[in-house]
Parts: sequence; C-alpha cells; structure tokens
Amino acid sequence: MKHPAPPFEYSIGIDVGGTTTKIGLVDREGHLLDRLSMDSQATPDARQYSAKLAELVQTMIRTHAAEGKIQGIGIGAPGVDERAEVMAAANMPFSEPVPLAKWIEDATSLPSRLIKDSSAAIIGERAFGGAKGMDHFVLLTLGTGLGSALMIHGKVIGGANGLASEYGHSPAVPDGRQCNCGKKGCLETYVSATGLKRTVFELLATMKTESPLRDADFHHLDARMIFDAAESQDPVALEAFRYTGVILGRAIAGLIVLLDPQAVFLAGGLIHAGPRLFDPVKESIETHLLPMFQGSCPVLPSQLGADDTGILGAAAILWDDPKS
Ligand SMILES: [Zn+2]
Repeated sequence: MKHPAPPFEYSIGIDVGGTTTKIGLVDREGHLLDRLSMDSQATPDARQYSAKLAELVQTMIRTHAAEGKIQGIGIGAPGVDERAEVMAAANMPFSEPVPLAKWIEDATSLPSRLIKDSSAAIIGERAFGGAKGMDHFVLLTLGTGLGSALMIHGKVIGGANGLASEYGHSPAVPDGRQCNCGKKGCLETYVSATGLKRTVFELLATMKTESPLRDADFHHLDARMIFDAAESQDPVALEAFRYTGVILGRAIAGLIVLLDPQAVFLAGGLIHAGPRLFDPVKESIETHLLPMFQGSCPVLPSQLGADDTGILGAAAILWDDPKS
C-alpha cells in the first residue's frame, strides 16, 4: 500500500485491554504511523487512568502537529454500554461506569467516541481489512474468549438493548463445559484459545497416545504449543483442532442460514493455525448447512494484523457510523 502525500488526515485509535492500553496514529488508508502504550492496571483510580491516557494522546498530537490534521479519537473497549457511552469493563482495576470518551474529549478538545471493542474490530475490518466494500458480514475473534460482531446493511447491529453480539455465550453443547458467565456449554468454552486448551486436556485424559503436550501444565500450555504439536502430526493436537473446527463450523452454519452474509471473518490468535483450523471449520459448515446455502459464504482470516486490530478499528470509527 502506497502512503498518501501530506498533508495527512489522521485519527487516533485507542485500544483498551485488560493488560495494556494501546494508542495509535492512523491515516485514512489504515497505516499505523505511531504508537504508544500504557499499563491498564497501573492505577485503581479511573480519573488517574484517564488523565494518564490523555497525556499520552497529547504527546502524540504534539509530535505530529506539523504533519496534518487529527480528526478525532476513537476508543474501543470491553464492557462498553454504547447507549450510555460508558465503559464498565470487568477486567479493569476500577469497577464504576466511566465516561471515558467525554473525559478524553474534555482533556484534548478533540471529538472522541467510545464503542465496544468488537464493534471497533468489525468497522476496522471493513475500513482497512478484507471486508472493504461489504455491507453484510460477521466477524468472530478467537482469543481468550470468543468475540463477535455483525454488520448488516452497513451498520453494526447493537440490538434492542445494545447487548447484541454475545455469540460466545450462545449454548453450543447441552450441559457442556462450565463458562465464566455462570452457564454451561457456551460456545466460547470450546471455540477460543482457552477452549482449545480445555479440549487438549480432555483429550490427554482419554487418548492413550504419546504427546509432547503431556509435559505442559494448564497455565503454561498456550495455543502456539498446540499449533507446533499439530505441525509435527501430534494426534492429540490434530484432534483438538478438528473438534474445535466442528463446533465452530456448526455455529457458523447457524449464522449463515440466519443472516445470509457475504463472508464470515475469523480474527484473533487462533487463526495463525491456518488450514489446521479453517479446513475442519469449512467441512463442518458444509455438513451442517442447508443445500441452498452451501458454498454461498466464504470463511476468511481477518486481514488486519492480530496486534493492531484494536487500534485500527478504534481509529476507523471516526470515519464510520457504527450506530444501527
Ligand atoms: Zn458463557
């Protein structure tokens, strides 16, 4: 991608995560031109957190003041109530609802918007990723949990109460694995990095075969180790991906018959598994899909790098209208 000529039009994207808050300067073509980050857990006080964040944003604005116009600040965060414009994320050190966009706007005098991280991700995929030109598609993010977002007629779907797109907590397996939400058998207890690990440990208990994964304890086992084991044809790792793909494919088949989307995008760390994940997913979709839908909807990897998706998506919301 060629960089546009100055003067640039920028926006600042802020990706609030439970561990790190990332700030990036992004141009209209989706180039990430500068980045800063801070520890999300450094202060238990929401006002202090916001003040530190605003300070970093102002540093970025000053550094690039001569190069172009900064249009505004987009913030993507977990636990956002988009109607009330507040963030109340369970994994932040402060629990009260925080009007983060208003505080950042007051501190920087730049228009600021706060939306759910999953909404930012789908807007970013359309603005800068593989969904350019699409108005009907789904994005599923396979990370620690399973994030989901829907775009229909070019709008992110929020639902009657702003609660839509919690597909990770849809019931996937009757009386299945215990979920953090309190229910059993939720999709994300199977389809996520954590779900894949749980599958591996269940398989190790039932399969008698040798496996390099037997040496790892639950906290040290990560998705990368499972990919590597699958690459060396470890039967436990191969079966874990197959099983994950069957459940994910069935869940996607349900989305396809409901929504008739142009594509389903998969994002998050697990997509690095490539065909090990995508092949069983595609096979399972075809198995579970009504014939008239078969072959209608490609399942594609997100085209935004896993590390920068949050920043790019947050920056893109200034150039998009996410409200349904
Ligand atoms: Zn759940």
